[in-house]
Amino acid sequence: MLLREIAGNEDFKNSIAGMILRGRIPSAMMFSSTEGGGALAFAIATATLLLCQNKTANDACGICDNCKKAAHGVHPDIKFFFPSEAQPDSETEYNNENLAIFRAAISQNPYMSATDWKNYLLRELEAKNKQLLIYKSQITQIHREARLKPMLAPWNVIIIWLPELFHHAAIPKLLKILEEPPDDTLFILATEDQVNILPTILSRVQIFRVPPVNEVNLLEFLFNTLPEDKRDFKKLGEIVNICDGNVSMALRLIGEEETTVFFPLFQNWMRASYSFNVPEIFQVIQQLEKYPREQQKNFFLFSLHVFREACNRKKGHTHISKTQPHEAVWLKKFEPALDDSMLYSVRQRLEKALYYLERNAATRLVLLNLSLDIGKEFKEAARRLKTPV
Ligand SMILES: [Zn+2]
Repeated sequence: MLLREIAGNEDFKNSIAGMILRGRIPSAMMFSSTEGGGALAFAIATATLLLCQNKTANDACGICDNCKKAAHGVHPDIKFFFPSEAQPDSETEYNNENLAIFRAAISQNPYMSATDWKNYLLRELEAKNKQLLIYKSQITQIHREARLKPMLAPWNVIIIWLPELFHHAAIPKLLKILEEPPDDTLFILATEDQVNILPTILSRVQIFRVPPVNEVNLLEFLFNTLPEDKRDFKKLGEIVNICDGNVSMALRLIGEEETTVFFPLFQNWMRASYSFNVPEIFQVIQQLEKYPREQQKNFFLFSLHVFREACNRKKGHTHISKTQPHEAVWLKKFEPALDDSMLYSVRQRLEKALYYLERNAATRLVLLNLSLDIGKEFKEAARRLKTPV
């Protein structure tokens, strides 16, 4: 991954490259972005730039031996540490299977979020739901790797992805190594949830906040990602609206064909849920069941987006509204039935439903339960808002 391959953020890229090229290299840095916003991509691109043997004015060359090895995720001087499932019996073992899965995942999508990774890893391992954390055994390994001399490059670069997910027992050893890193070792942390990182970690790293990718840059990035015959500006525009700077979600959605049909389906679903109309709920279910599972999940993501939009508009935040004109007309009628508390509950319910779909639960059952729950949420919101149902 090179800086120039990352979506948007030209000024930010230049400031990072300028810092490295001037030799002002912090021993521990941290990229901080929103979910799917590119912190990991920046960590990898910066590591590549650090190791490149033939740096250009604002990026790595992309063709030297170090760049090529970094691009394939196999450079011996770039080590990755990331959340994985607990392995109580392997205190000192580096888990090569997980590393291979991680490399495959980032080669497909360097913008992946913590949730994307969890789903990917558990699917590859055919494992049930487990908590993914960075455990004590990995920090032992980090200590060992940090003390090794670099093999090919001047630096030994340790990338720690999602430091917000350190197991509490691993923190003291992490702080120790960040405090006193060996001479030729650099740490690059990448987070998408900075508020959940302990201040004692934050105070030991230099933080670089990755600005959200703006809509024009994201549109341009997606446009260039696609083959010419798939470049549909209208559809890409809709995807950019939904994704709100989440590049990972955008990449997932461009692989799908039917985003534009979601709005009418959502309207029918809400009408049916609001009135507890079970035959109509079943019609929505039948329609949704015609789509492959990935598309069904995207429908839930789309629904989350519409709820968020409705709440923004209700609060008068029309300047941040990203709604298409035909959606806005309908949302005006939808908004009075919602409040913040309902948005929060519905969001949790939708995320739970997504989780069940990931685990291959029957769409029919998940959607029926969810519809009835949302119907109840409408009723409770009406009680709070004192509007007739
Ligand atoms: Zn190079």
